[in-house]
Amino acid sequence: MIKYSLICEDCENTFDSWFSSSKEFDKLKKLKLVNCNSCNSLKVKKSLMSPQILKKQHNNDKKIKIFKNKMREYQKFIKKNFKYVGENFTYEARSLHYDPKNKSKGIYGKATDQEIKSLNEEGIEIQSIPWLNEKDN
Ligand SMILES: [Zn+2]
Repeated sequence: MIKYSLICEDCENTFDSWFSSSKEFDKLKKLKLVNCNSCNSLKVKKSLMSPQILKKQHNNDKKIKIFKNKMREYQKFIKKNFKYVGENFTYEARSLHYDPKNKSKGIYGKATDQEIKSLNEEGIEIQSIPWLNEKDN
């Protein structure tokens, strides 16, 4: 369904109407089935698409943007305070857990689900977070 804001050329009345598609609107218009709900004139044309549809889209974009910004801040924090160990995460996590000489504040890196599971079983607390790629806007 698509909502169109329609405008009457005769009385300048504006009103909203739902159509299954833009084609349906054209079809009904050709059949003279689209008329002004105020003066019944057939000189009705599409105004801009309803802002309600646009607004909804816009809100989603905004929410995603806010979320991504928060993720970036979080990532910045992690990068600043933790050491990146990449694929060696499981090894480094065990070293950090078992080796008292290891004074590293914290690490971050990649681990498979299986590795995360076995680390958890050993009592090594790790957190998984979604990670944004630098290029991903
Ligand atoms: Zn009218």
